[in-house]
Amino acid sequence: MKRVETKKISVGGVDIGGDSPISVQSMTFSKTRDVEDTVSQINRLHFAGADIVRVAVPDIEDAEAIPEIRKQTSLPIIADIHFNYKLALMVAPFVDGIRINPGNIGSKDRVKEVVKACKERNLPIRIGVNGGSLEKEFEMRYGATSQGMVASADYNIKFLEDLDFTDIKVSMKASDVERTVEAYRKLRPMNNYPFHLGVTEAGTLFHATVKSAIGIGSLLLDGIGDTIRVSITGELEEEIRVGRAILKDSGREKNGVNIISCPTCGRLEADLVKAVEEIEKVTKDIKKPLNLSVMGCVVNAIGEAKHSDVAIAYGKEKGLIMVKGEVVASLPEDKLVDKFLEEVKKFKIN
Ligand code: SF4
Repeated sequence: MKRVETKKISVGGVDIGGDSPISVQSMTFSKTRDVEDTVSQINRLHFAGADIVRVAVPDIEDAEAIPEIRKQTSLPIIADIHFNYKLALMVAPFVDGIRINPGNIGSKDRVKEVVKACKERNLPIRIGVNGGSLEKEFEMRYGATSQGMVASADYNIKFLEDLDFTDIKVSMKASDVERTVEAYRKLRPMNNYPFHLGVTEAGTLFHATVKSAIGIGSLLLDGIGDTIRVSITGELEEEIRVGRAILKDSGREKNGVNIISCPTCGRLEADLVKAVEEIEKVTKDIKKPLNLSVMGCVVNAIGEAKHSDVAIAYGKEKGLIMVKGEVVASLPEDKLVDKFLEEVKKFKIN
């Protein structure tokens, strides 16, 4: 489905919304006041392919560390701030965006000050609604429902619009997929601000991948979403790897390798699992869009090979290598993976 057209904003030079690519974000889990640890985590995320990083700023010591973190990193930084508007004022000169909910900052005058600081520096504000911490009035009225999340987001958007501030993006994350998807679908027709998608507190790698693939993937297929974060209890790099894979498999990102491999069955006469694992490992950092297929026998291999740049069709103790559907080699099993990777390299992959 065509992507919903949204207002374009910029976070430290990374465009979000409009026709810009869908960006992948993550968040450090270090104490932000620990400059060395935070810089190391930001650089790890940068290296893994993150477009933007968010850091928590819960206290003055954390805010005081931001200028030094800024000096030592180049990934756009969003400061995540709750309740204390003064922290936003402290970090505004050193970051590329602020995440606050105007509703929990207190008086309008305080929000005005934050808006003024953001306007002066062209910093966008992310309104980040979380299904587990709705403002009291919305929780009492709607319970912790998608309707409550939408009401909260809409209230916070209007709060900023009343202050003539529209450099906004919005997230509405819940810890279950259904509520998350419902909230985004309900809010989408109500404004044209870019949406940051994610299922929050999604668990360890396996569960987070499944929940995020369903939640973020459903919305992307609806044409909704301008930036995403996969929330994983685990390694930082996994969030980026899974996020990129969701974008690729939902057709929103063209770059990178798409591996097609058969599930294997009783016809298989080779160690296909080992071959796919090796091919996946060697090709995981390729940016060029490539379809690679690894099939256990000729039953479906020829059909898949027609749509693949490089393909293997295993047989009994030997197999075929095909490039763009044409057979280029027939080799013993132990020579196939090397030849396959040799053909992949010919596609000028980097
Ligand atoms: S490609 Fe062949 S080996 Fe693989 S699942 Fe299909 S029939 Fe079985």
